[in-house]
Amino acid sequence: MTQATLDFYNFSYSELVELLDKEFGATKFRANQMFEWVYRKGVTDFEQMTNIGRDLRERLSQRFVFPKARIHDRQISTDGTRKYLFEVEGGDLVEAVMIKQLKRMTLCVSSQVGCAMACSFCRTGTMGLKRSLSTSEILRQVNGVIEDAKNFGDSFSNIVFMGMGEPLHNYDGVTRAVRNLTNSIGYGMSPRKVTVSTSGLVPQMRKLAESGVAVSLAVSLNATTDETRTEVMPVNKRWPIKELLAAVKDFPVGPRKKVTIEYVMLGGLNDTDADMKRLVGLMRGLPVKVNLIPYNDNAGLGFNSPARDWVFTWQRYLNDHGIQAFIRWSKGADIAAACGQLATDSRKEPRPSRLPVLQEDGQQAAA
Ligand code: SF4
Repeated sequence: MTQATLDFYNFSYSELVELLDKEFGATKFRANQMFEWVYRKGVTDFEQMTNIGRDLRERLSQRFVFPKARIHDRQISTDGTRKYLFEVEGGDLVEAVMIKQLKRMTLCVSSQVGCAMACSFCRTGTMGLKRSLSTSEILRQVNGVIEDAKNFGDSFSNIVFMGMGEPLHNYDGVTRAVRNLTNSIGYGMSPRKVTVSTSGLVPQMRKLAESGVAVSLAVSLNATTDETRTEVMPVNKRWPIKELLAAVKDFPVGPRKKVTIEYVMLGGLNDTDADMKRLVGLMRGLPVKVNLIPYNDNAGLGFNSPARDWVFTWQRYLNDHGIQAFIRWSKGADIAAACGQLATDSRKEPRPSRLPVLQEDGQQAAA
């Protein structure tokens, strides 16, 4: 009986070491070589992995496959942001966005097809959850963008899990991807440059904190009272603000590093004068910086954008009270790649979904 093939991208380094030992009688050294060929050099043809003996190469090639990314569509914004629609297993479609910033590009990837969290300001939240992506489906978004970026002569320096889905609701798939992204013989990215963003799944935040997976954390707060937060983020019913911020406080950030608090400003709903003052109180004593994200009312979900001057007032107020605050203006709004706009109809033509984060480097001068 022929054995089923294995998708290489679904293995973390330690899982590969274990499999090579068990099935091939090969040492850890072979796992190092394979990781280097695949992730550092982009080589997926065993014939070219010339420092691995011919016999072993032959056996490995019968067992492993390296699925290619399938780009279904790509749109380019006038601001240089690029939105990709990837076809994953079963014909589902997910989005990834290359966000153009002042000095760098950030890649925003999806972790699920749809999302169960139902945040009311987010298009993906209207889709419901279809399924979680495998680690391979996540890494194929990265691989596909790396390949396509050659056409533009650019690359990304940061990756954020802020596309479709709640990353911590796909804990295993996402943390395995993070391990490979940050492994020095994997993609070799610094954990500071890989960010997982959560709507506030407190048990998974604590699990991540204890797991030893080095990664940056962002938390979507988006309100200063439980009443408003529950209205826009139903997850708050289960884990209200107090419990959420206690988990933020306990998250191991390391020296000179902070958890990012994302605050989508919904005009007239969560951006009042009282909210601004309460936010300072909530942030006091926490190892955090705040990203203010002016809501993009193109998303058509019935919320308003805040006034531009008011956004700057918030930033100044937070900074004056010792809370580091940045403004993240939407990018790619013309191609529906901006925050709150990502949402595909999972198998059909793209209807933009929520998304990514915007960015400039946040200062007024750059806005
Ligand atoms: S904002 Fe994030 S967690 Fe909330 S529904 Fe959208 S994708 Fe899901």
